[in-house]
Amino acid sequence: MSATGRFAPSPSGDLHIGNLRTALLAWLFARSSGRGFLVRIEDLDRVKEGAAERQLEDLRELGLDWDGQPVRQTDRRALYDAAIDGLVTQGRTFECFCTRREILEAPSAPHRPPGAYPGTCRDLTPAERESRRVERNPAIRLRSDVETWTVRDLLHGEVTAGVDDLVLRRGDGVPAYNLAVVVDDGDQGVDQVVRGDDLLTSAPRQAYLAELLGIEKPLYAHVPLALNTEGQRLAKRDGAVTYRELTERGIDVFATITGSLGLTGSTPEQLLDTFDPAALPHAPWTFTPPA
Ligand SMILES: [Zn+2]
Repeated sequence: MSATGRFAPSPSGDLHIGNLRTALLAWLFARSSGRGFLVRIEDLDRVKEGAAERQLEDLRELGLDWDGQPVRQTDRRALYDAAIDGLVTQGRTFECFCTRREILEAPSAPHRPPGAYPGTCRDLTPAERESRRVERNPAIRLRSDVETWTVRDLLHGEVTAGVDDLVLRRGDGVPAYNLAVVVDDGDQGVDQVVRGDDLLTSAPRQAYLAELLGIEKPLYAHVPLALNTEGQRLAKRDGAVTYRELTERGIDVFATITGSLGLTGSTPEQLLDTFDPAALPHAPWTFTPPA
């Protein structure tokens, strides 16, 4: 399978200019390195009717292209289930009956990072599991045998983060985000992951999971997010931030994005010759929506 990059939005609403900037960067990283480029719709959760179609339209408006048809995670459940079942068979998982509240309230073990799963259900006896299954459907968690994992990121260098017993399949049967992403990247031949740096701390646990599943770990580049004028992550409530809203107000979205990156050209192709990952700004980009 040929090497490829990807953009993988969740269809929870329209993309804002910060998301579009990340999409353009993912495209530039992929195409400038001779890679293919895929779009994947991460619709296992948080779906808004019609949002996926609008997102694809906005990416096209921005001048981006991709190889083949975008895949939807909801069409790929069998792949995720096969990966989870493989880990179950290897004895690398356990059933977890905890509610979110129980996990938050449990005393955290001294060697685990705050917010990490406290290990409550790790060593339940078969009889305990049997009786708890009557109350609720268990989630399937990875029985992680490391505490941290390290990845290399093109912008951030070596990044080490905690790996806890992450959820692979939720109690409602839906594959967990981290699992689906890793399985998809492996299955689709994605060897370059360019995405917002809010996901930087998820990269080590995903790389660990990839290792367990025998999937080659990708090159990572976590790019700076767009912020509002208060220094928070840019969001819909900040005003006109989507492609349509900005275009209606006479703003050239492509030029605004390329300007923020120090790139010149009026189409994505025209940026390819001068695109230099090493010259990318490392600081977040503050976007002020038009009045
Ligand atoms: Zn539990």
